Amino acid sequence: MKVLVLNAGSSSLKYRLIDVTDIENMKLMAKGICDRVGSEASQHVCSIDENELRISIPMENHDEAMQVVLDTLSSGPLKVLDSLDEIDAVGHRVVQGGKYFSHSVIIDDDVIKKIAELSELAPLHNKAALSGIHACQKHMPGVPMVAAFDTAFFQTLLPKAYMYPLPYDLCKKYNIRKYGAHGISHRYIAERAAEFLGKPLQDLKMITCHLGNGCSVTAIDHGQAVDTSMGMTPLDGLMMGTRCGSIDPAIVTFLEEHEHLSPEEMDDLMNKKSGILGVTGISNDLRSIGDAADQGDARSQLAYEMYAYSVKRYIGQYIAVLGGVDVIVLAAGVGENSKRMRRLIFEGLETIGIIIDEKRNNATQGEREISSDDSNVRVLIIPTDEEFMIARDTYELVEEREEQKAHAHEEEVSSVHNK
Ligand code: ADP
Repeated sequence: MKVLVLNAGSSSLKYRLIDVTDIENMKLMAKGICDRVGSEASQHVCSIDENELRISIPMENHDEAMQVVLDTLSSGPLKVLDSLDEIDAVGHRVVQGGKYFSHSVIIDDDVIKKIAELSELAPLHNKAALSGIHACQKHMPGVPMVAAFDTAFFQTLLPKAYMYPLPYDLCKKYNIRKYGAHGISHRYIAERAAEFLGKPLQDLKMITCHLGNGCSVTAIDHGQAVDTSMGMTPLDGLMMGTRCGSIDPAIVTFLEEHEHLSPEEMDDLMNKKSGILGVTGISNDLRSIGDAADQGDARSQLAYEMYAYSVKRYIGQYIAVLGGVDVIVLAAGVGENSKRMRRLIFEGLETIGIIIDEKRNNATQGEREISSDDSNVRVLIIPTDEEFMIARDTYELVEEREEQKAHAHEEEVSSVHNK
């Protein structure tokens, strides 16, 4: 089954075309991104194996971006499909599934209606996903589509973990609660980690850390998410590349008042001008900060320490929440690549049985363990792959539906014969 995975952002459309033989065998056929959609600088980058195509091309909206993607896949120098009919299914990443979706679903009119209704909670993201869905309906009518939600994995949280201590009626009126985000990644790395250890996920207490430009930590108790650091929106929790994460909420009103900021300006400050970028004034990218810290830049050194401290603090919280931990998993850009950050995060945790092996921590590739043999807690690095997870869900749901259809058809035929 050839599955097109789409991840529509407010001004981008990322995609991967994956050939799924079964859930153990997936082959990447092509991947790419349409960037700065809606601006004059829009461009499309597509790569197949070692070959890359990069073109500036006008794309007014997601519909036009979709046309560019499909044209590239089915014609021209990087063609991988003889016809668009070869695409069997499409998997869409949707950021906000609210209280409606606790797992991925086949998209129908009702699902579309609910994604639209939930746009209030994630205005940019859900609208972008809807544009992607509508573009597919137009360009590939009849092809089954699946929605995979970033929030779905956290629907197992109990009210004590997802409610905020604000006036109850207001929380109910506006659906204010913790929804979490990055759920597709947390679910993927948790499942892979269990497989890596050769143990059922249901037997493990796990803390998963997605540390990229956006960052979140999740506590998973015997396979079920019980808490996560992102909140009603992805702004909460850890310090991130440009987002502040949890801060004293009184700072918001203080700054609005003293700096004469509107709610939109304050939102922009916390989402785009804070985190590593805000502390250093240099960059949101930890690689640049590492270099600056090496050259003695005090704010870069501080940002490193604050970031590690913020992760360490959540690990501590979640050990308490879980009543212990068997496995800690790190993933995404920082988690997978920065041995320096990993060292800082776990520094001093030897006394509670978390011991990092320096040599293993310095290894660079693939799924691996970085804890020492005498560590009570296993610490793993699992490169995340959200698109793989979406392709897998899409494959499974579409296969299941085809089987149900075939079964219903067989029953119909046999009831006709028996008449
Ligand atoms: P996103 O959340 O946007 O998907 P990624 O998971 O790709 O982000 O992570 C991007 C971040 O990973 C970069 O901003 C950078 O800070 C960090 N990163 C990537 N490679 C390295 C590295 N070798 N050393 C330190 N940080 C890195």
